[in-house]
Amino acid sequence: MAIIDEYDHLAPRLRGKKEGTFAYLTVKDRWPKIVTGLVDQLVRKRPELIQEYGPAVETDIASILEKFSKLRYEIMTDKPLCTLPENGSEGRAWNQLIFDMKTAFMPDDVEELTFFKGPWLFVECYLYRFIYSAFLTTEKLSEMDYFQDTKQRNFLDHLEQIEEAAAFMNKISEKDAPLHDLFGTNTIFKMSLWGNRADMSLTGGDNQIMKMSCVVASAKLSEYILVDDVNEMIFHVLAPLQVNKGNSKNRRIDIVLDNAGVELTNDLVLADFLLIRDFADKVVLHGKAFPWFVSDVTEKDFTWTIDSFAKAGPEGEIFGNQLKSHIGNKKLIFECDSFWTSPHPFYVMDREAPELFKEFCSSSLLIFKGDLNYRKLVGDRDWNMDTSFKTACRGFAPCPFIALRTLKAETVAGISSAVLDKINAQFEDNNSWMTSGEYAVCQFGGFAA
Ligand SMILES: [Mg+2]
Repeated sequence: MAIIDEYDHLAPRLRGKKEGTFAYLTVKDRWPKIVTGLVDQLVRKRPELIQEYGPAVETDIASILEKFSKLRYEIMTDKPLCTLPENGSEGRAWNQLIFDMKTAFMPDDVEELTFFKGPWLFVECYLYRFIYSAFLTTEKLSEMDYFQDTKQRNFLDHLEQIEEAAAFMNKISEKDAPLHDLFGTNTIFKMSLWGNRADMSLTGGDNQIMKMSCVVASAKLSEYILVDDVNEMIFHVLAPLQVNKGNSKNRRIDIVLDNAGVELTNDLVLADFLLIRDFADKVVLHGKAFPWFVSDVTEKDFTWTIDSFAKAGPEGEIFGNQLKSHIGNKKLIFECDSFWTSPHPFYVMDREAPELFKEFCSSSLLIFKGDLNYRKLVGDRDWNMDTSFKTACRGFAPCPFIALRTLKAETVAGISSAVLDKINAQFEDNNSWMTSGEYAVCQFGGFAA
């Protein structure tokens, strides 16, 4: 595949080697912390695992611990990426990608494909694939979700907020509830946006308790949204969908998910809203095929979450049952294409995942949640921030889409000079606003030229 292109000069890919950047701190501190957390967990769970799988599981645990201690050493000493076991779906493809990246993007032996020097997005995806492969090669632990406890804890620590979100949605669902206008629809999108503040890959695996609920955040945090295209999207896409409900077939909306826990809850509120307010005949949710970036949603998380809403209280229970009926009616569907656990930016989706791309061509709206999806939309590059969002997406346009993202990486495009001036006046040379998760963008795109 084509690894290098003209954009490498215009907008270089982010890499961990530049000291002081967030990418550098991620490679130096956050990744070793995540690997150490997994080692600690395995050691802690050893008696439990022996009880469940028998003494033979000791061999599996030992093999994973050995691989992780080597991985941690290789990250910290900036060693070249080694090949991966060719197991599971895409195992072989990964080794081809590593080879291509080594020979095409870093061909001159001056810079090797190492943890710090390699493109950040590529190496970070490699890290999570490495972890997955280590479990997959074992006899007993190949199905284990090693991030499950973290994800479930996030849900259980936000039960009060989840009950509040469910109550908010249940009120809208009532038969005689007044038809919500633009403002109501906008609020639901903002709840989904602010759910993205909770991210356990950002904290190196530590749980993050959100002090402000998404219902409250949707009303109070508008000054933290640097670009807000939600109303434009509602006007151009959602409103016509609702008006044309009798005339157009297959009104389908897709949500490409990010994190489990409180964020997934608010994404399910959005999905439920789109269905009951008749913006779509079906909503397709896209999650990950295996544990990814600590807190990303897998199918198991999706099922567990729906089954667990009753834990939040009576409103949660009603909301959970409503979702179960959408699933039963095939109006709410969960899919997990292997493209989402690849390192590819989205502008190559038509070539790398043609079936998925084709599906999106028939979608009415695609909603991308979170930072990683945004990084893949704009290629994880150091764009001039006033470059248009459309340019940064580089032709990716299967259908209209909106990115709902709180900023957790130093890549962003489409920020107006007025907003940039304001941010620069406040933060001067400090880039912390780009990675703290405090600021957000809601950017609308996807119309072909
Ligand atoms: Mg995530």
